[in-house]
Amino acid sequence: MIEKQTPRNPPKKTTPLQTSADQLPAVMERAQKAQILWAQRSLRQRARGLFHLRETIIHHSEEITTLLTEETGKPPFEALAHEIYSTVEMLTYFGKKGPRLLKDKTIWLRNPLLMTRKSFLHHRPLGVILIIGPGNYPFLLPLAEVAMALVAGNAVIIKPSEFTPRTAAKIQELCDEAGIPDGLVQTVFGDGSLGAALIEQKPAKVFFTGSTETGKKVLKSASEHLIPVCLELGGKDPMIVLADADLDFASSAALFGCCINQGQACASTERILVHESIQKPFLEKFSEKAAQLRTASQAETPHLYERGEIHNPKTLQTLKAQIQEAKSQGATFTGGGKNQDIETLAQGPTLVSHAQIEKLKIYEDESFGPVATVQTFKSLNQAIEMANQNRFGLAASVITQNLSLGEEVAKKLEAGTVALNEAAVSLAALPEAPWGGMKDSGFGKKYSPQGLLEFVHTQHIHAPRAMRFVSKSPWWYPYTPFQYEAFRKLLGLYRKNWLVKLQAIPNFLWNLVQSIKREKRL
Ligand code: NAD
Repeated sequence: MIEKQTPRNPPKKTTPLQTSADQLPAVMERAQKAQILWAQRSLRQRARGLFHLRETIIHHSEEITTLLTEETGKPPFEALAHEIYSTVEMLTYFGKKGPRLLKDKTIWLRNPLLMTRKSFLHHRPLGVILIIGPGNYPFLLPLAEVAMALVAGNAVIIKPSEFTPRTAAKIQELCDEAGIPDGLVQTVFGDGSLGAALIEQKPAKVFFTGSTETGKKVLKSASEHLIPVCLELGGKDPMIVLADADLDFASSAALFGCCINQGQACASTERILVHESIQKPFLEKFSEKAAQLRTASQAETPHLYERGEIHNPKTLQTLKAQIQEAKSQGATFTGGGKNQDIETLAQGPTLVSHAQIEKLKIYEDESFGPVATVQTFKSLNQAIEMANQNRFGLAASVITQNLSLGEEVAKKLEAGTVALNEAAVSLAALPEAPWGGMKDSGFGKKYSPQGLLEFVHTQHIHAPRAMRFVSKSPWWYPYTPFQYEAFRKLLGLYRKNWLVKLQAIPNFLWNLVQSIKREKRL
């Protein structure tokens, strides 16, 4: 039973949020001790911890919304709907389904020689999990992993982005208030060098979410210790707008897909491929709608606006450099405000087109801003080829009124998730579905029953059905005539022809019985 606790030393805003590498061995030791005790609790007891955390989060939701908006620049609605609500949904799903998904499971054995034996799967916790998180969804992403890790019986160390320490401190405070046992969830604060130092503490597994470049470094250092990693990396998601698409719907989907969280979403739309017959009206509609998005200062009701701000200086710098290069190469910009200088293009919904867009960085690299490139296509095959011509493979979307055609296109796209008539689908709370990329977008799955299994060692246990069935196995020594014949006849049971199969049964059984009765195994 998890007892309610009062917060232990909740971090205050004035506390310098910095952990030194010297502190890490003690952090790891605390986590290991806490994990051993936690793993002894039943699956239901662990799930109860998730529900306490959910309750605490809902209780503090207003405060968390404000904090997320202040720290990341995202609009309050996105903080509430995409971070807090999605976290609550993740905690609910893994709290409810986790125990059932993780309990021991019997495997049906088809081998006739194993009729007296059984096999089952047992899911063992991994130990101490290291979560290295990004700055764009600093609440949802670590907590969804915390939910899966805890129900599976692990302890967790969170290394958040150096750009979102206050949100990370809040997560720690919420876990403490929810009564999560001391040391089971610990947050450490620092930049990439602290992340690298944590891998040297040899956690059982690393769940990394961040850029492809950093992901490669994490993979390299983890490989030194043979630590498994799950890599959720960058994306350059295409949206294919087919000729039959409803223009009003398609332009709304593109606007949301490209501007969500000011484009700072791994699954934001960054490449729009539109059929040449509808390009012009599509761009016009996009522009009209882009102009209607409100910033905080334009909002009539203070918390209701769509356009946030990019607070991460590194992101802004990369984005501006991409726009600068596109501008200098004569690219055309749609949207992005009347005053088309670098500053407004980087902050406002902007579509970029150029005759040789493939040569520009804004096409090749992740942009992480409210911008997307636009290209036209003539045929479906060309659209699919263009969508797949990129090193990333995280998500994609297809806009069409023909759902069966859309599904066919979806199956041909090289992306971990493909959404039809939807955009940036990962941000809808979808704990039931797996999430994870292909190609440079990483590997490993999160969420869903499949993703939950990333947090356990699945152990196969093979045993007699009862003690009275225990006997020496028919393949043990010594190798003898009846034993040999029994296995020869056994092959007959695998023949295609049913008559041959049936004829093989008595012969097989007779030799098997003889080998048991007459040929003593050593
Ligand atoms: P980042 O790669 O700059 O940093 C991510 C984390 O890695 C930070 O906590 C950072 O301190 C840490 N880090 C840096 N160097 C390290 C090292 N050598 N060893 C260990 N840790 C190190 O990414 P970011 O700017 O915070 O996040 C944006 C990126 O994350 C984008 O590329 C985005 O697409 C991606 N992302 C992917 C997903 C997904 O599900 N695939 C989700 C969200 C964000």
